[in-house]
Amino acid sequence: MRIAFFDVHGFEREHFERANRERGHELVYLEPRLTQATAALARGAPAVCCFVNDELTAATLAEIARGGTSLVALRSAGYNHVDVAAAEREGLTVARVPEYSPHAVAEHTVALVLALDRKIHRAHARVREGNFSLDGLVGFDLHGKTVGIVGTGKIGKVAATIFAGFGCRVLSYDVAPDEDFARARGVAYVSLPELYAESDVVTLHVPLTPATRHMIDDAAFARMKRGVMLVNTSRGALVDTRALIGALKRGHLGSAGLDVYEEEEGLFFHDLSDRVLQDDVLARLLTFPNVLVTAHQAFLTREALANIADVTLENVTAFEQGRPLDSRVVVRPPLLDRAPAALAGPDP
Ligand code: NAD
Repeated sequence: MRIAFFDVHGFEREHFERANRERGHELVYLEPRLTQATAALARGAPAVCCFVNDELTAATLAEIARGGTSLVALRSAGYNHVDVAAAEREGLTVARVPEYSPHAVAEHTVALVLALDRKIHRAHARVREGNFSLDGLVGFDLHGKTVGIVGTGKIGKVAATIFAGFGCRVLSYDVAPDEDFARARGVAYVSLPELYAESDVVTLHVPLTPATRHMIDDAAFARMKRGVMLVNTSRGALVDTRALIGALKRGHLGSAGLDVYEEEEGLFFHDLSDRVLQDDVLARLLTFPNVLVTAHQAFLTREALANIADVTLENVTAFEQGRPLDSRVVVRPPLLDRAPAALAGPDP
C-alpha cells in the first residue's frame, strides 16, 4: 500500500525501511507536518502516517479523505492531536501504536530527575569552560525522598519501579488504581492533593484529555512543597506554562524537567538554531538554570523506534488485507468521551 509519511525525520527512516523489507509497502517520505495546507501531498495515498505534531483537524481529515486516503496510521501511542469524531465522519480508520517501550519514556524521566538534581547540565558546561568549582552544584540524595507518580499506566509503573529501586518512597495517583501493582512494588495510592503535598519530585504520566489539560496550574503548585521538582514527559498541555514560570520565579518550584511543551508544534523536531526564537514563553523557560528542556525525545531509543516501525507497518498490512485491527490499536471517538476510569487501559 502507498503510505504518505508526514513530518519524517532521519532517525526513523532506517527503522521503517527495515520493517518494510518483508512487507513491501510503498513508503513516501515527506518532510512537512500534515496540516490542512500540506494535506494535498497525500493525494492518491490510501494510507497516511503521522506523528505527534501533525495537525489532524476536521479540515485536514476531510482533505485527505477527498484525496483518497482511508487509513491514518499514527506512529505514536498518543492521539490527542486527532479529531477522532471527524475521522469517523470521513470514514477514515485511525490506528496507533498502543505501546512501544514504556522503558524508554520512564528512563528518560529518571534521566531528567538525576540531571536536574545533580546539576549535570551546569557541571558539563562549567567543566568545558575550565571552571572546576563546585559552588552551586549541591544536589540531594534521591534515596529516602518522596516521588509522586501521577498516572500509573505502562510508563508510570516502570517509573515507579525504578524510583522504588533508588530507595524512594513512591506515592501515586490514578483514576484507575492498580492495587496489585502497588502492593507488589510497595507503592501507595493517595489523593492528588496528598501526592502534591508530600512529594519532593512530581512526575506526570497521564494522557492529555479535557480532564487533565492544565492539571498543573497555580492551584496545584500552591499545594506542592516549596522546592519541589516537576517532571513532564507526557504531554505539554498538562502544565499551564505561565503558572510554571510564575512558580519558578517565586522559587516555589525548585526545578523542572520538561520533555514536552504545550506549544511545541512547529518547534520541536526541527533545527531552528540559525533563527530567532519567536516563542517568548519558551524563551523565558530556557533562561532558568534549574529548568531542563528536551525536545520530545523521551521515546527516542533504538528499541522504541524499531517497535514503532514494526507495529505501524503491521497495522497498515492488516488494514490492507481486511484483517480486524486490535481494539487497543483502533482509535474511536467513544474512547475520548467515556468516564475517566474507562480511559485506563488503551490510552497512549
Ligand atoms: P497508559 O494509558 O498506559 O497510562 C495512562 C494512565 O493514566 C492510566 O493508568 C489511566 O488510568 C491514567 N489516567 C487517565 N486519565 C487520568 C486522570 N484524569 N487522572 C489520573 N489518572 C488518569 O499510558 P502510557 O503508555 O503510560 O503513556 C502515558 C503518556 O505518556 C501518554 O499519554 C503520552 O502522552 C505520553 N508519552 C510521551 C512520550 C514521549 O516521548 N515524551 C512517549 C510516549 C508516551
